[in-house]
Amino acid sequence: MVCTSCRNATSSVPAGWIGEDEDPTIGYALIECSHCHRLMVIQEFNEWNGQDLVSSGAPVVIWPVRDTQLSVEIPDPARKSFEEARACHHAGQFTAAALMVRRTLEAVCIDKGATTGSLQVKLNELKSKGIIEGKLTDWSHDLRALGNEAAHDTTIFISAADAQDALELAEALLNYVYVLNAKYNAFKARRTTPVAPS
Ligand SMILES: [Zn+2]
Repeated sequence: MVCTSCRNATSSVPAGWIGEDEDPTIGYALIECSHCHRLMVIQEFNEWNGQDLVSSGAPVVIWPVRDTQLSVEIPDPARKSFEEARACHHAGQFTAAALMVRRTLEAVCIDKGATTGSLQVKLNELKSKGIIEGKLTDWSHDLRALGNEAAHDTTIFISAADAQDALELAEALLNYVYVLNAKYNAFKARRTTPVAPS
């Protein structure tokens, strides 16, 4: 699992499990990250396989959670792809997370009318339309390259840190394109509208 404080994949063994209302299929534990030694509360789901109670997937960190809520201004296809990328990362599926980040970029391009050619061509179209600029253009090309590695090179597995950075850059990109641009335009419109003398 991935530490939500230092972002490293951590292998701590829980000191003990606490059940919920005597339900053996849900367990909670307090663990210490083997890298940064900060504490986390994790939740694990179990199921009966006929003989034993076995884990039914990677544990989920329920505290501390560092995810921010995405703005409602971000259109559904981009938001859902991004949220799936985040869910993959939480479950320790870093290569899948990088793929979903790439898909998030595709969704932004399509939403902004760049619908033909490779993702590289579409991102360049966003740049020429002034939707992304400067560093953001570099970031999106790097995220695209990471996603391509995840998609096409089956010997490569993306690291926890690379997947986390990709998520943070993609979130910044979404906020820039859908939230901050609109905010800035509204701010500029207010500032240039003459105020009636009092
Ligand atoms: Zn840690």
